[in-house]
Amino acid sequence: MSTRMMKAAVFKGSGVLSLEQVPVPEIRQPDDVLIRVSACSICGSDLHVLAVPPGQYAKPGTILGHEFVGTVAETGPGVTTVRPGDKVVAEPNIRCGICPECRRGNFNLCRNAVNTGQQRDGGFAEYCLMPEKQLYKVPADLPDRTAALAEPLACVMNGMMKINPQPHEKVVLFGAGAIGLLFVKVLRRYGVRQIAVCETIPARLEDAKHAGAQLVFNPAKDDLPSELEKAWGSLADAAIDAVGAGAVFEQIIPVMNCGGRVLFFGQNMTQYSTIRPGDINCKELTITATLSTKNSFGPAISILTDPEAAIDEVVTHTVALEDIHRGIDLMRSREAVKVVVVP
Ligand SMILES: [Zn+2]
Ligand SMILES: [Zn+2]
Repeated sequence: MSTRMMKAAVFKGSGVLSLEQVPVPEIRQPDDVLIRVSACSICGSDLHVLAVPPGQYAKPGTILGHEFVGTVAETGPGVTTVRPGDKVVAEPNIRCGICPECRRGNFNLCRNAVNTGQQRDGGFAEYCLMPEKQLYKVPADLPDRTAALAEPLACVMNGMMKINPQPHEKVVLFGAGAIGLLFVKVLRRYGVRQIAVCETIPARLEDAKHAGAQLVFNPAKDDLPSELEKAWGSLADAAIDAVGAGAVFEQIIPVMNCGGRVLFFGQNMTQYSTIRPGDINCKELTITATLSTKNSFGPAISILTDPEAAIDEVVTHTVALEDIHRGIDLMRSREAVKVVVVP
């Protein structure tokens, strides 16, 4: 019997990603679903994995990629909710269901989570194998470049449920990369109009305005607290860090109103920050954070499938799987906001 082979981008350790021919995964468990990948976007966390030293951990030998969409090709004998031909997106992190965090309902904090594209093979490949319970059907006519954003948007929705912004509030957002732009679009849908975006790349400030930001600032040049006072007559009720650089924490505290809420989104384990905890006390700030997805794929898909949301506007480049290294360079140089890889 000849083994079917496919092209895949395999993480080799210490910053190396290699394009290889590997066997197409086979159905082994009754709930296995083989997906023919049609698009997989490059995430900031893929860049963290490929950094030296890494900002996030992946197991060497693993196919990277966790933001993918595809068509069901084959199903195990126990699969009942999807069938061949269905278009699906996947919640990439497989949770155990029995650890103390899972039992408390904190599935996104599962101590035994196995993350697709980091600890098990992911979507930078022609095929990917997923358990049925991780899959969500999307409409057949939803464009691949839009559907590939289901996972990052689900992460954003998890953060939104945490910080729960109100329509009358003033929100400052740090970072106008893909996650920042998704936050702007979702904040607008929550009815928030007073949105200030802070970003050092001029082109991204234009993107933020286009996405719906009311004000844009360059924190390298602008004095944020006085600019906000001038524009709003007050500081921010809520702030979101969509950068994940330690220095952002230091910039956030001075722009907050008393009683304000701060949400940390980006995760980069190489980053540190120097803050004075007393400044948090003085303003009675609430610091909160969000990790991964939690009951948020449904809300994300309902936004994705609304053409008015124009979620795919955050995708700036599409590359073939053979050109994934060019896609990664485009993201690293920050020339691209979001790159979608097509196998
Ligand atoms: Zn991601
Ligand atoms: Zn668990």
